[in-house]
Amino acid sequence: MPSFDRVAVVGAGPAGAFLSRLLSDAGFEVEVFEVLPRLAVKPCGWATPYTIESFFKVPEDAVLCEVRGYRVYVEGRVEKEGWGRKYGYIIDKEKLLEHLLEGITLRRRGVDPARLEGYDLVVDARGHVAYSGVKARALQAIARGVSVGDGDSIEIFFESEFVGYSWVFPLGGSRVKVGVGGLAEFDVLRARLHSLLRVLGRPQVERVEGGLLASGGLVPQGSAPRVGEVLGAVMPLSGEGIRPGMLSSLALFRSLTTGSKFARELEKTGLPLNIRVQLAVLRRLKSLPPKGRAELFRSAPVEILECVTAGCVTSAFIVKAMARWLSSSRGSACQRAQSLKASCVMQPPGRRRSRGRKPPRRPEAPPRAPRGVRSRAPEGS
Ligand SMILES: Cc1cc2nc3c(=O)[nH]c(=O)nc-3n(C[C@H](O)[C@H](O)[C@H](O)COP(=O)(O)OP(=O)(O)OC[C@H]3O[C@@H](n4cnc5c(N)ncnc54)[C@H](O)[C@@H]3O)c2cc1C
Repeated sequence: MPSFDRVAVVGAGPAGAFLSRLLSDAGFEVEVFEVLPRLAVKPCGWATPYTIESFFKVPEDAVLCEVRGYRVYVEGRVEKEGWGRKYGYIIDKEKLLEHLLEGITLRRRGVDPARLEGYDLVVDARGHVAYSGVKARALQAIARGVSVGDGDSIEIFFESEFVGYSWVFPLGGSRVKVGVGGLAEFDVLRARLHSLLRVLGRPQVERVEGGLLASGGLVPQGSAPRVGEVLGAVMPLSGEGIRPGMLSSLALFRSLTTGSKFARELEKTGLPLNIRVQLAVLRRLKSLPPKGRAELFRSAPVEILECVTAGCVTSAFIVKAMARWLSSSRGSACQRAQSLKASCVMQPPGRRRSRGRKPPRRPEAPPRAPRGVRSRAPEGS
């Protein structure tokens, strides 16, 4: 039986809020500390893959959009696409956090988890600010006057000049998040964001926001147990941190309530394996010149791409497929991929390709504006 009762969770992001919900529902007395005056202020694209449903049902009113298609562009051409099944969600993060924290005491102040007294257990969920590993950078604009497909698909632009990518995520109506992130300086990201906004027809920009994100993988525990981004529970290549952070909270909850080791519970979720796979690809991309990066990406089979980005790599099948792909493009990353033997509880996606909507024809030549991303006059103009 657990030897604690009063728990303090420092940080009310997805990881801290989810852990608080789990502990509170299990009968523990939980208090959450949050330094910012509002929830979900931290810049974030709010996208999450469908694999979140393997452990958490996203509340209906926190779903802004179900993602039912995607296109990935390399140098202006569509290189990968998928349609006709649920790939994920764009969520309303503030609503999601409100749901998770319902009925839980929230104290609006910043605290140091190492100095907090009066609790049996203090959990550090402070996000990237306290992460000690390598960090990537990201910038995004909230813009009006762009529509993506039927409003239920996302657009990704693989960047070859630096290791990273850009995105257009729908927010409903003609509002979108247009972002760019990766291992590059903010000046480089800013220039790329502006060029993407130009391609999208210069939509009306409400605001531009930016931030850092953990991209170096999991780091050993600090003085207090950690969950979420402070632990490095972020997919290093895709920058996805909501679902991984929540998964790390689930693992800590299971460890605290059953007495099993946190590392073991974490491994059982499949998260460490998936992070290692993305780290291997990231290292490979970093070692290549821009042309080589684009070629490596083009050569990636779509089912591997979908599985890696959805975080559902298992050692049984996908690692072999990855090793084949990486070895066909030469280099030592294939050996690293082959050495990833840990087991994973998640299953790869059942259906790979479209059965529903027919994808539009691929462009023959690099277009000025990406297909499927239509620019419109800003609302109310
Ligand atoms: C531009 C950008 C876009 C992104 N897009 C996506 C995306 O589309 N999908 C996705 O899955 N991930 C995305 N991410 C990553 C994702 O936002 C984070 O990985 C995720 O929010 C981490 O969750 P967390 O709970 O660990 O930390 P956070 O969400 O950072 O929450 C930590 C909380 O702790 C609070 N805090 C910090 N210090 C203290 C203190 N001393 N006392 C009290 N409170 C404190 C902070 O204010 C914050 O609210 C993006 C990141 C960036 C920068």
